[in-house]
Amino acid sequence: MALKPGAHYIHPMILESETMEARNGPALDTRIELVGLSREELSNAVAELDLPEFRAKQIWHWIYHRGAKSFDEMTTLAKSLRPLLAKQFTIHRAGIAEAQLSNDGTRKWLLDFNDGKQAETVFIPERDRGALCISSQVGCTLSCAFCHTGTQPMVRNLTAGEIVGQMMMARDEIGEWPAAQATRLLSNIVMMGMGEPLYNYDNVVKALRIITDEDGMSFSRRRITLSTAGVVPRIADVGRDLGVGLAISLHAVRDDIRDILVPLNKKYPIAEVLDACRAYFGSRNSRRITFEYVMLKGINDSPADARELVRLIQGIPAKVNLIPFNAWPGVEFECSAPETIATFAEIINRAGYTSPVRQPRGRDIMAACGQLKSASEQIQKSRRLHKKEE
Ligand code: SAH
Repeated sequence: MALKPGAHYIHPMILESETMEARNGPALDTRIELVGLSREELSNAVAELDLPEFRAKQIWHWIYHRGAKSFDEMTTLAKSLRPLLAKQFTIHRAGIAEAQLSNDGTRKWLLDFNDGKQAETVFIPERDRGALCISSQVGCTLSCAFCHTGTQPMVRNLTAGEIVGQMMMARDEIGEWPAAQATRLLSNIVMMGMGEPLYNYDNVVKALRIITDEDGMSFSRRRITLSTAGVVPRIADVGRDLGVGLAISLHAVRDDIRDILVPLNKKYPIAEVLDACRAYFGSRNSRRITFEYVMLKGINDSPADARELVRLIQGIPAKVNLIPFNAWPGVEFECSAPETIATFAEIINRAGYTSPVRQPRGRDIMAACGQLKSASEQIQKSRRLHKKEE
């Protein structure tokens, strides 16, 4: 075929597939995703194939205890059964859009979900243990003044599968399958990533039930902490449904200041949050509550603030985590000086509460909540702009 100079030759096969796609859209994967189904849902899905209950138990064990990514790996299942399952089901993990390793060992992943939305997961290793910081939403509605995620629009809740998937991805990356062993580096989970977990309550509960299931990852509830900005009506539910550790992002001792730092305070002011904490402790939960307090220079860090904090939490078995503010480009706040933080900690300590100062980690990879996602969006935006200019 003679081509005119500059004309593009399109192979007929490509033309054909393009027109088919234009007519039908991309081929849809109609298989059922197993990651994120409750045990009961997975049993029902397997029962639909006329398979006995113990098969569901085996599959569950392979997915969550052994970390199998395909049915081919499930060697306790008959060989003939494996392709049959692969035709009906998938065991999906979110793609990793970006992975960063800090010089202090902190690892941060930006995950790509099926619809192209992204969220972050951070792993903070210590010598013989480590905490995985899991996101519950893409973006956040709370707009806390000092939080970088607050500058991003709320996009959507993560599904239970996407929440559990963060844990599975981290185990893949760290190389920690099978899951249930005492010596695991990934020893703790903190629901302190992007989003407000209590505004995605059902999916968070479902995900944590999967993660704590004894035949799967068998993660101890005692090693899970859920952090909330103070969604008061949900606090009692956490105790009833989950029994995990509770952390409250308090950050201020006066309503006028907290209204600005954590605008949710206008709906649920300090006194109501603390009443909910007292009730939480008084119910069947006897675990200490953690109060998180971000140290902001000249805003909430005076000795008088520390004394007021002690007065406010009186009677609540608690620990106070002081978090040096992790600054991000364009933010108006500054982190308190180390001496100021030390004085603040001492006042709380002397009143009988443990008040560890959180070690800043992963500063070189912008591990503050939401920063990697924003950086990635900036880069995409500038790429788009460049394209337009070309
Ligand atoms: N929405 C939940 C969980 C996500 S934030 C909550 O508010 O608790 C997890 C913790 O990180 C919160 O205590 C939050 O206030 C804190 N945080 C967010 N941005 C921060 C920053 N730049 N520096 C220090 N702590 C920050």
